[in-house]
Amino acid sequence: MNGKLMVVIPCYNEEEVLGETARRLTLKMKALVDAGLCDPASRVLLVDDGSRDRTWEIITRLHAENPLFEGLKLSRNRGHQNALLAGLMTAKDRCDFSISMDADLQDDMDAMDRFIAEYSAGCDVVYGVRNRRESDTFFKKQTALAFYRLMKGLGVDITFNHADYRLMSRRALAALAQFHEVNLFLRGLAPLVGFQSGYVYYDRSERFAGESKYPFKKMLAFAIDGITSFSVKPLRLITTLGIVIFLISLAMLIYTLVAFLAGRTVMGWSSTIASIWMIGGIQLLSLGVIGEYIGKIYNESKRRPRFIIDRYLNEEGADPTVDA
Ligand code: UDP
Ligand code: MG
Repeated sequence: MNGKLMVVIPCYNEEEVLGETARRLTLKMKALVDAGLCDPASRVLLVDDGSRDRTWEIITRLHAENPLFEGLKLSRNRGHQNALLAGLMTAKDRCDFSISMDADLQDDMDAMDRFIAEYSAGCDVVYGVRNRRESDTFFKKQTALAFYRLMKGLGVDITFNHADYRLMSRRALAALAQFHEVNLFLRGLAPLVGFQSGYVYYDRSERFAGESKYPFKKMLAFAIDGITSFSVKPLRLITTLGIVIFLISLAMLIYTLVAFLAGRTVMGWSSTIASIWMIGGIQLLSLGVIGEYIGKIYNESKRRPRFIIDRYLNEEGADPTVDA
């Protein structure tokens, strides 16, 4: 027996899929319990990330109908990563291991058996990795690929094609709780937790219903966040760039002097304009990058709570307060 499992699902405006997700999860959890893979006291924790549609209503109804479902309501929309963290931190002291997945049925539930097998074999963190990305649009595939490459290049250890479908043991969750950063990028944090880890490969299907809550703008913000939360390489890159430009300017100085002495001074309008634009551009970009990091420090230094729990629906009547 592997102990109590808690499946954690962040939900933001998911009224269209939640019913079906719950139906399939009920069957899946029963199958897992019957197969002796997890304790009958296992639960599904649905985290409502401040949805504006009927998501919370549906969660309340599911909880009333079936004690398998617990509900956690955040006080307002805090984004996928924070919602997931709120769920995981609630699960931390209430289960032996957790599995996080999306609400939209893109993650193959049948892979859970293999997650648990890895856990039984001693892994504290098990990453779900997508086999293929056929269900994604060409654009999403390419941008995702570029993102992973960039992260690798910047020295950030993330698992290729792993989203947030992940098993974490109680021990791993306790370790995760020690990371207090406000700029959350959970898939980058999980490897930092360490412990023995495993991989499970699965096919990701299309979103069952509704539309993606990650439009391009959010995806871009997520990528920039991921990079700047885990790597200071962009700052170093700016320094390197500065040195290179300084060396070039030395060469230019010599060239200018030579040209002056040779009496060929009034020419080169194009080179002047070009360098003004280029240097200006590079400076602004560099300032922007530095600004990103200062913004991060600003956010971290305020130490605001990462989520605030409004309500927690569970059988035991447990207190909704969790260290945020
Ligand atoms: N989500 C959330 N808060 C948000 C945006 C998304 O909790 O502000 C949840 C959403 O309900 C889903 C998961 O995060 O369960 C992943 O979102 P989505 O499927 O829209 O992203 P995609 O798969 O398109 O990248
Ligand atoms: Mg999705």
